[in-house]
Formats: sequence, structure tokens, C-alpha cells
Amino acid sequence: MDVSSQSAGDSGQKTWRVMGLQVPVDAPLEDVREAAAKRIGLSGAALLGFKIVRRSLDLRGRRGGRPARFVVHADCVCPGGHRGAALSRAVKSGKAVEAPSTVGFLPQDLAGLRPRRVVVVGSGPAGLFAALPLALAGCEVTVIDRGASLDERGKDVVGFHRSRVPRTESNLLYGEGGAGTYSDGKLYTRTDDPLEWPVLRELVDAGAPEDICFDSRAHVGTDRLYVVLKNLRRRLENAGVKFLWRVRMEDLVIDHSVEREIRGVVTSEGEIECDAVILATGHSARDSWGMLSERGVEFEAKPFQVGVRIEHPQELIDRGRYGSKELVQRLGAASYELVARGVGAHSFCMCPGGRIVASVQSEGLVCTNGMSNSSHSTGWANAAVVGTVLPPVGAPAFWGVQYQEALERAAFLAGGGDYTAPAQRASDFLSGTKSADTPHSTYPFGTRPARIDSLLPAELKEKIAGGLMRFDSQIPGYAGASGIIVGVETRSSGPVRMPRDPERMTARGFTNLFPVGEGAGYAGGIMTSATDGARAARALLGVHQPESSR
Ligand SMILES: Cc1cc2nc3c(=O)[nH]c(=O)nc-3n(C[C@H](O)[C@H](O)[C@H](O)COP(=O)(O)OP(=O)(O)OC[C@H]3O[C@@H](n4cnc5c(N)ncnc54)[C@H](O)[C@@H]3O)c2cc1C
Repeated sequence: MDVSSQSAGDSGQKTWRVMGLQVPVDAPLEDVREAAAKRIGLSGAALLGFKIVRRSLDLRGRRGGRPARFVVHADCVCPGGHRGAALSRAVKSGKAVEAPSTVGFLPQDLAGLRPRRVVVVGSGPAGLFAALPLALAGCEVTVIDRGASLDERGKDVVGFHRSRVPRTESNLLYGEGGAGTYSDGKLYTRTDDPLEWPVLRELVDAGAPEDICFDSRAHVGTDRLYVVLKNLRRRLENAGVKFLWRVRMEDLVIDHSVEREIRGVVTSEGEIECDAVILATGHSARDSWGMLSERGVEFEAKPFQVGVRIEHPQELIDRGRYGSKELVQRLGAASYELVARGVGAHSFCMCPGGRIVASVQSEGLVCTNGMSNSSHSTGWANAAVVGTVLPPVGAPAFWGVQYQEALERAAFLAGGGDYTAPAQRASDFLSGTKSADTPHSTYPFGTRPARIDSLLPAELKEKIAGGLMRFDSQIPGYAGASGIIVGVETRSSGPVRMPRDPERMTARGFTNLFPVGEGAGYAGGIMTSATDGARAARALLGVHQPESSR
């Protein structure tokens, strides 16, 4: 389906959002425009503008012969004064609503904002999208990251793969773009957060495909993320942001007044004076959390997700999801997002046509994750299958970190101690036996048969096993011998939260320290981390937050 958009016309007009149109997957844009206009009593030609704002694939009922279709929300710009029975009916039934207005990172009028010197620690989505609005508002912004810039980081990752010696400061988790740089680049949006719009527009301007603005399964892919991140860095530099690579935050300079105030950041390359700090260190900077805790930043244990990564031939997933080869040609490699209700397991971060990666930053640990290029062409599909781990009542703040590390170390040892991953066929995981051999895996260091089922705590193992069986009923063969479980997936979400003032977004007890993103416990992916960063920038500048559009 072609989804290019036309811009809206002049004033005096009104934009209605037509909700939940069901359209064939190969419907041309004119047909969608016509159907949307009809719903509100106009013809397609009478609209002053038309734009698809949301599109998701609906495969329900496929086994009963119902064809696959897209469910679309579309904005229709109508001439001023348009009314009528069709529009009234659509509004009454919720099939049309007034389109929410889009907001930018900042209000148009920047008068009165006080520019400040800000250090942003971390160049992941949270750090980058905090830095941009701050720089646009005239702040002097320095972004530091312990990892390397993109090209150097790429060499460090290859170096690890070749030598099996982890680069502890520049790797799949640390460096330009943060943890999501080597990812599928899935941009799941919640649609109710107005700050998603300026983030998505920046990504498109930096080279991401236009469809990320409306596709519910939008993905960029590692290859394109590389280009996007370089352009985004240029955009930030042009706005005045200074980047310092391979520079680690090691301490904070704190004025211990009644409420503590940060005066500077002590880095591996010396001290940087500043008026505020955005802490965007991600979910793996365990050493930095230790330092921050010693300096009085509060942490609390929070629920987090742990499980395994499973890999299948892509063909098995395509067959289970689409039922026909024809849809693969039209829609590309199939993806899935499965939930085993009542069992407490779900799939996460599914990478069609992707690869399994070793996402560790320390020696002696194995933890998996997934990535893919935009072509989704490896022929293998991987995803995490995870359950939620609840810290016991009264658990110390870093209880979850110890839980994660214990599993990661056990996986490292079970793989033989050289970053080979322990692996087990899904059918053997269910029957509690060691696999005689392990089939192909895209994991870069190879796999070795091991009892992953007995590595996991019993309660978690039960959840994963229940999930596998349930998913097998939706994708036949999912839990069979050609599904291979690789390593443990311990970092699907962060295990701690830094409590912060809900309005000011500052760490409790601090006036100018802003913990943001996944590491602070307020986000769980690229988009939510980016919008959390942007929100913190507004809070720092004293700009009130936009209302949710739902
Ligand atoms: C392999 C992989 C695939 C993923 N795929 C997806 C996906 O497809 N879609 C999705 O939505 N999410 C995905 N995620 C999750 C997503 O990447 C994270 O949710 C997101 O990056 C978190 O953003 P952040 O800015 O909070 O932190 P991060 O992106 O983790 O960035 C933190 C940065 O801080 C730096 N840092 C840490 N400590 C210090 C210090 N002391 N001094 C200086 N710098 C420091 C690090 O080097 C790092 O660059 C994936 C994650 C991984 C690992």
C-alpha cells in the first residue's frame, strides 16, 4: 500500500481523524483516502489534505480464510464549515475524532527561558533527545559518553567478535546512539505521547523512512540507524552540542545545601562545570549506579523482565503468521508479538530476518539480545521470551542487578567460558533434557548444548515453558526441535528506578539532577527513552509539559 501523504491546506479548515478503517493490504492510497472521506460524508477529492497517521497489520481470522488487512487511522483536512449526518454519526460512534494538534519539542516563543550549562551523560535516545531541545533553547550542552563514536564503536564490536575479549567501555551497550544502535530499531509508539511526533520527525529528517511516523510496526534496522545517527549528530552539533567520546562520568561535584545541587561532573578526562546534569546512562551502567548511590542518589528495586532468546528459521514464522508465501512477498518477513495470558510470559523484541547478539559490557557474562538490518534477510527469526521478576518485599535497591548478574555468569560458564552461548532445542527445554546437538544459530560466538531449563530459577522456567507451549499453538513448530533457545536474556528492562519529583523530574533530594530513560527506570525502549529525555529538557527549562492526546 502506498502511503505517501499530502499536506494540509490553509486556515478555516478542520482536521478530523478517521479511526480504524479496515483496508486490503494492497489498497492504493486513493482508495484509502476515498474510504476515509466517505466515512465523514465527503469525497476524496473534496478533502484539502489527507495523511495516514497510524497503520497496523491485522492477521486475525486468517486461518478461517479472512484476508490480511491494515487497520488505519487517517487525518482528513476538511473545508471550513463541513457538517452533515455522516460526520455526526462517525463522531458519535467514535469512528472520527478531532485530530490532536502536534507539538514541537519546545513552544514557539522561547522568550524568558534561561540558558544554562548542561552536561548530558549518555548518548542513547534519552540523552540525544534531551540535548537537542536544550541546545535549541540556547543552553550550552556537552554530551559525554564512555563509549566511542559510531565508526570507532563498530571496530570495537568487531574486535570483541574476533578476539573474544570484551571491550568493556565501547560495545553493544556503550557508545554513540546507546544500546539501541545495534538493534532492530523497532520504534514502538504509544500514540498518546505528543512528544513522539517531534522525535519521529527528527529521525525522518535524519534519514529514517517516512513510514515510521505511522506504522505501528515501524523499524529502521541497524544499517539505516547508522546513517540516521550520523545525521542526527550533525544536527545536534549544528545546534551547538559538543560531544565527547570515550569520556566516562566518574563522580559528581555536589553542593550539599538543604537540597543537593550539582556543580559539575568529574569525568575520566577531568572536571566539567555545569548548572544541571541529565543522567541518561542506560540500563547497564552498573558501576555508575554504585557511584551515584554513594553520592546520595536514591534507587529502588523495581520489577524487570528476564528470560531467554529463541531462534527459528524465518520460514517457520512466515508460515505460522501468514500461511502463504504470497504475503511474505507483499509484506516482508513476518514478525510476531505474543502474550501467554495467565502464564506470565510474552515475546519481546522480535527481530525478523535478524541476528542474535552478545549484549554484554563486562568480562565473564553472557546475555543475549537481537538486531536486524532493514532488509530482514538473514533467513532467521529471533525474539526474547520473558517473564516478569518481582523483587521480594523490602529487597535492597540492587537486588535485581545481582539476580541478573548471577544468571549471566551461570550462562557464561555453561557456554564454556569463552562467550559461546549455552543453547537447547525448545523441545528439550520443555522435556528437561540436554540437546544432543544444537542447530544453526546466528549468535556470533557459536553455541554449546546445555540445560538452560535448569539454569533458570524454577518459577521463571515454568513461565517460559508455559509461554513456549502457548506460542506453539499460534505458530506451529514454535516449541519444536527447530526452535533453539540461546543463552539468557536478562536485560529486557532495567531492574532499578531512581525516584524523581513528578513535576520537576529531578532526582529526589536534588535540585538539578535529571535521571532519564531506561537506566532511571522510566522507559523501556528507544521511543519511550527519547520522549523521556525530551520531557526532562522541558522540565529543566521550566516549560510546562504537553497534555497526553488520549
Ligand atoms: C541489542 C539491543 C536491541 C534493542 N532493540 C530495540 C528495538 O528494536 N526497539 C526498542 O525500542 N528498543 C530496543 N532496545 C532497547 C533500547 O536500546 C533501549 O531501551 C534504549 O537504548 C535506552 O535508551 P537510554 O538512552 O535510556 O540508554 P542507552 O541507549 O542504554 O544509552 C546509555 C548511554 O550512556 C552511556 N553511559 C553509561 N554510563 C556512562 C558513564 N558513566 N559516563 C558516560 N557515559 C555513560 C553508555 O555508553 C550509553 O551509550 C534494544 C537494546 C539492545 C541492547
